[in-house]
Amino acid sequence: MATCANHPIKMATVRCKTCNKPLCNECKMITDDGIFCSEECHAKTKHFMEKTNSSGAVVEHRTKFITKRTVYSFIVLLAVAAGTAMWFRSTQGVESFSDFKGMVAKWWDARYLFF
Ligand SMILES: [Zn+2]
Ligand SMILES: [Zn+2]
Repeated sequence: MATCANHPIKMATVRCKTCNKPLCNECKMITDDGIFCSEECHAKTKHFMEKTNSSGAVVEHRTKFITKRTVYSFIVLLAVAAGTAMWFRSTQGVESFSDFKGMVAKWWDARYLFF
């Protein structure tokens, strides 16, 4: 552990949560939000926490994020399915109609794995 940022002769016991400055027992400022070097650093982190905890905008943002992610996963799923289908065609060779029917049946069964 380093020495205190304010007292070069004292060993630091903690670090400021905001600026990561090493602090001795005398300099550390203990608050409900954590340990800080100054009221300034406390205010910065407190402001950040209040911003991320405030309900309205964040919740709306999260809903949008999930919708976007769901669409994205669906596209990825389709791409993977198409890629696998192409792989099946090139490695297993669908030549006759019964082969094709068998493959479709396989995919029809496999749909429960995806949806
Ligand atoms: Zn600080
Ligand atoms: Zn100190």
